[in-house]
Amino acid sequence: MDSLFDSAEGGEDRESRLAELARQVAVCTRCDLALSRTNTVFGTGDPHSPLMLVGEGPGENEDATGLPFVGRAGKLLDDILAAVELTRDQVYLTNTVKCRAAVEEGGRMKNRPPRTGEIRACNPYLEAQMEAVKPEIILCLGGPAAKTLIDKNFRITKDRGKWHELAGGVKAMATFHPAYILRQRGDDLKQTKRLVWKDVQAVYAEYQKAMEARG
Ligand code: SF4
Repeated sequence: MDSLFDSAEGGEDRESRLAELARQVAVCTRCDLALSRTNTVFGTGDPHSPLMLVGEGPGENEDATGLPFVGRAGKLLDDILAAVELTRDQVYLTNTVKCRAAVEEGGRMKNRPPRTGEIRACNPYLEAQMEAVKPEIILCLGGPAAKTLIDKNFRITKDRGKWHELAGGVKAMATFHPAYILRQRGDDLKQTKRLVWKDVQAVYAEYQKAMEARG
């Protein structure tokens, strides 16, 4: 793909770069998810934050609103961030794919995981967002984001909670997706929450270090 920044080069700020990218995403037809979307969901938050969160893709609520992480999973993500005194305005939040992946079941459209080809088609936008925001730390929410950014063989249950170094020295970790947490019950729920809490604390420690280094 040609540079996604062709029309935004020339020393413009990262907000302008992201706005130009969002405009490109809004009319993108690089994969079939364009055919069924209501809205594209580009990303939100602070483009100057050292911390980027990358989820899987828009669900029904996100498709309807054009915003990432709304509905129950979004509320849980807010609670997870609040536990370390962060808000979603202090991080940059996006997904591996910018359009909803859905399948018809029983007469209605249900969310489904994005396919490898869809993630690959959308990856230049994620890479361009990373290039614009220049995060120092990335928290992948769920397996698809970790497979895209850390290792294609990443296994979320085995590999979450460990630090990995990406190109440019970016530190990356993965934890469970909020929607996965919501599907757990009983002891599984307690254990999953405990692990996510541990992961988010480790990420927050790196975030604090990055903020201190910036003075
Ligand atoms: S998912 Fe990404 S690549 Fe596919 S149509 Fe949407 S913006 Fe384009």
